Amino acid sequence: MQLNNMQQQQEHSHAHAKEVPPVPLKHHVTCHRCGKPLTGYQAKKKQLWYYKCNTIGCKLNVSARQLHSPYHELLGSYDLSPQLVAPLKAITVGVFQQLYHESVQERKAIQAALKQVQQKLEKMEERYAIGELGRTTNEKFSRKIITSDLQPLAVRYARLGSDLSNLESYVYFAVDMTTNLPIM
Ligand SMILES: [Zn+2]
Repeated sequence: MQLNNMQQQQEHSHAHAKEVPPVPLKHHVTCHRCGKPLTGYQAKKKQLWYYKCNTIGCKLNVSARQLHSPYHELLGSYDLSPQLVAPLKAITVGVFQQLYHESVQERKAIQAALKQVQQKLEKMEERYAIGELGRTTNEKFSRKIITSDLQPLAVRYARLGSDLSNLESYVYFAVDMTTNLPIM
């Protein structure tokens, strides 16, 4: 769900921002003097774009072109040699498959625990139906089972994340992106 949301947001922002912004690194690159994120502005006279630090007294000011060029070189340093692309994909898929396997095991454990809680609730319902339990007792203990057993399990189950069937395509997308960083 998180990935889908991110993807949707990205598609959304792509639809709106068709052009590359003049200062794409604002809030992303931090000032080397004080560590605060840089902001961007356009100088009115020459219409040129600059990055600057807003910390009082710091006064760091650098033209967009001056910052973009070394940043581009920095991205280039993350480039993968072509012969490493396939091994990285294989290793990454392997790691995710391991994680996936672990999450399948946990999912099974939670499902079993949920079933037990459900049976507990049904048993209480039965005892209430045949008059072994009073109405208030039944309600009180049902509520207790729901809040202390059922709900925590449901929360854990929801956190597991659901579908990893597109895993390979995500991995391939990520690795391909790293190889394309300098030209994006
Ligand atoms: Zn600063």
